[in-house]
Amino acid sequence: MKFFLNSDEINLDFSLNGHVTRTRTRYFYKSMMLIDSHAHLEMPEFKRDLEAVIQRAKESGVEYIFTVGTEKKDWKRALEIADLHPSVYAILGVHPHNAKEIDDQTYPMLKELCRNEKVRAYGEIGLDFFRNLSPRDIQLKRFREQIGLAKELGLPIVVHDREAHQQTLEILKSEKAEECGGIIHCFSGNDEMAKACMDMGFYVSIPGSITFKNAEGFREIVKRIPLESLLVETDAPFITPEPFRGKRNEPSYVRYTAQKVAEIKKVTFEKVAEITTENALRVYRLL
Ligand SMILES: [Zn+2]
Ligand SMILES: [Zn+2]
Repeated sequence: MKFFLNSDEINLDFSLNGHVTRTRTRYFYKSMMLIDSHAHLEMPEFKRDLEAVIQRAKESGVEYIFTVGTEKKDWKRALEIADLHPSVYAILGVHPHNAKEIDDQTYPMLKELCRNEKVRAYGEIGLDFFRNLSPRDIQLKRFREQIGLAKELGLPIVVHDREAHQQTLEILKSEKAEECGGIIHCFSGNDEMAKACMDMGFYVSIPGSITFKNAEGFREIVKRIPLESLLVETDAPFITPEPFRGKRNEPSYVRYTAQKVAEIKKVTFEKVAEITTENALRVYRLL
């Protein structure tokens, strides 16, 4: 497959299982291409029509989908989907909601599964002080431990932070998360949070909520985050962007999020597609 960077011609070699084996360091795509940096294709919401969902994503220019297995029962399914589809990669870890379920077998199992080269990151891990489905002290402990595990595995982390910005930042700093790098997914922080994350080399991933009518404050914050630090995501089946709010979300809808980012930053849709794609390929080490 060939892409062009200004005058540079770049070759991407896709092996049979869909891995990108070599590229130059910098390139831009002439053809519009998007990446859904975070979805949950293994969830039951997609059981009925997964193939059609993946096909629709492809037809909308979504070249890759990163599906996140958040608990034990979902890891194998996420990997299975990634193994079967060249356009799907996997991210595995224990979500803060499930932190209380971690036992002696959890980390050895994850270590084994993460050896599969379709696993491109460790997560989502972090803190959810909104729903508090696991006790906070357990969430904090497991978040720290899993940053250590990701480093051991040599994977970037995908961080879930809901109503816990300060504590998330403190842990990222004290655990030296800049050593593995990663993404703050479904970003909901303020300017200071965005800056602190970028200072650690983290990317900030924008969900469909940026299209919501009442998200003016969030749009203002995103406007000030450089495109070079942004990714776009669906978090499907959740957080469906306008004009489909209220329905099930799916990776093809990531274009509405990218479109909104383009609008608020006053750049073209193609520019947002190019840069966020390059960022995603870089953080997931596919460049
Ligand atoms: Zn999340
Ligand atoms: Zn998620």
